[in-house]
Amino acid sequence: MPDRYAVIGHPIAHSKSPLIHGLFAQATGQDMRYEAIDGGAEAGGFGRALAAFRAAGGRGVNVTLPFKLEALAAAGEASDDARLAGAANALRFDGDRVQACNFDGIGLARDIEVNLGLPLAGRRVLLLGAGGAARGALLPLARAGARRIAIANRTAAKAASLARELAPHLPGSCILSGGALADLPAGETFDLVLNATSASLSAGTPAVPPGAFAPGALAYDMVYGQGLTPFLQLAQAAGATRVADGAGMLVEQAAEAFAWWRGMRPDTRQVLSMLQSRS
Ligand code: NAP
Repeated sequence: MPDRYAVIGHPIAHSKSPLIHGLFAQATGQDMRYEAIDGGAEAGGFGRALAAFRAAGGRGVNVTLPFKLEALAAAGEASDDARLAGAANALRFDGDRVQACNFDGIGLARDIEVNLGLPLAGRRVLLLGAGGAARGALLPLARAGARRIAIANRTAAKAASLARELAPHLPGSCILSGGALADLPAGETFDLVLNATSASLSAGTPAVPPGAFAPGALAYDMVYGQGLTPFLQLAQAAGATRVADGAGMLVEQAAEAFAWWRGMRPDTRQVLSMLQSRS
């Protein structure tokens, strides 16, 4: 009997996780099955789906929107990344124990540093958005050595409160601020501009001032499969020489979860290029 894993979300039909984990399992020779489960829109749907999957012998799950907060609440133990993000994107079942991790931020940092070749040490980062994705990215970016992180959000108060909450957990060398785009000091430039808003899903973009992109900056949109989003177009027009979407982040966080479950980290290069060639 193959070991069973799944991703739970709503909606879930679009999820690439079954494809990615299927390819990882094939490449590493792991005897496992990975399926997509719709937690539904009704209250309690996630809890019911999780309980049913565990009762059927499931070994672990990935969790995606809108259940990442509930996933953390369902776990008895959580990694620092999951606790500080206030959300989990992976659970592991070990008898009665349910452990939670959040690999989104680590996946992002790995994609930027390894796949895109931009070491984060000493970089100045403009992080757009203050939702779950931005929150999960903060600690891994700072841990990787970013020396300045400016969080800018449409609702400025959310960015300010996120900065206040997480500042004590960041290395002292990282200068952190939170507010609106309009609050950025005039003339400040960034090596990495990260779109962690969901604006691209509705063909919108935060209005980043062209002067915010340092020469040779990398513009990164966390959404994937949307082609050259309005944010990436804006970045190119402002002179960003490198642009990327979140496909690499997706594959890298999946590889982290796979390693946590199965004790071996799969190679991500082929899976990522296959995913990119399909979009
Ligand atoms: P979320 O918690 O709902 O937060 C959404 C954020 O986007 C908020 O800061 C919101 O600002 C901002 N926003 C929404 N529409 C906007 C607009 N038109 N203009 C400016 N800002 C806008 O969502 P999330 O979980 O953080 O996800 C954010 C994005 O990251 C999504 O597109 C998601 O697909 C992507 N993501 C990708 C991966 C990956 O593996 N590649 C993983 C996780 C997330 P307000 O606070 O003002 O409402």
